[in-house]
Amino acid sequence: MSASPARIEVVRADITTLEVDVIVNAANSRLVPGGGVDGAINRAAGPDLAKAMAGLGRCPTGEAVVTPAFKLKAKHVIHTVAPVYAQHPEKDVWRLLGSCYRNALGLAHDHKAHSIAFPSLGTGVYGIPIAQACKVAITEVQAHLATKPRPHHIVFCCFSESDAALYRAALESKEGY
Ligand code: ADP
Repeated sequence: MSASPARIEVVRADITTLEVDVIVNAANSRLVPGGGVDGAINRAAGPDLAKAMAGLGRCPTGEAVVTPAFKLKAKHVIHTVAPVYAQHPEKDVWRLLGSCYRNALGLAHDHKAHSIAFPSLGTGVYGIPIAQACKVAITEVQAHLATKPRPHHIVFCCFSESDAALYRAALESKEGY
């Protein structure tokens, strides 16, 4: 059975409402539930998610770990840790952010996920400028899709219409980072 053709979509939504196999969380390296999208995912998944995260210990910046999704509609949550913009030289920010997307996509592939939703990693409290961060996200997803069959439905889930507009423009421009 062959996979359906790859599809990249930009939506404006609360990521916890999406019906996808994998929801990606913008976690902190201690894997302790925080604010922003991490808080929303933990509230929607229920307290078992925080216990599963605690059981994994730590996750270094740029890496990713997986847990069940508990009360969410998704099967798994993949937690990845974006770099804090102010704590790294610019070139390391892009390298580490790219690594978040690559590692999350690799784990989703290994867990046989067909669909995955990403929040705009690192662009909230961690302060990464979204105009460049969305180019990193799109470049890494396109590179993954060029070599791997899964996940073939990728959703960039933005919390505001202005963020979604930046992602859509970046998808159309096909400019790398
Ligand atoms: P980080 O600490 O990696 O910067 P944040 O959670 O502060 O993570 O923000 C990352 C992005 O997630 C921001 O663009 C923020 O607006 C967005 N966001 C916050 N809550 C949600 C949600 N429920 N669904 C989708 N995106 C969200």
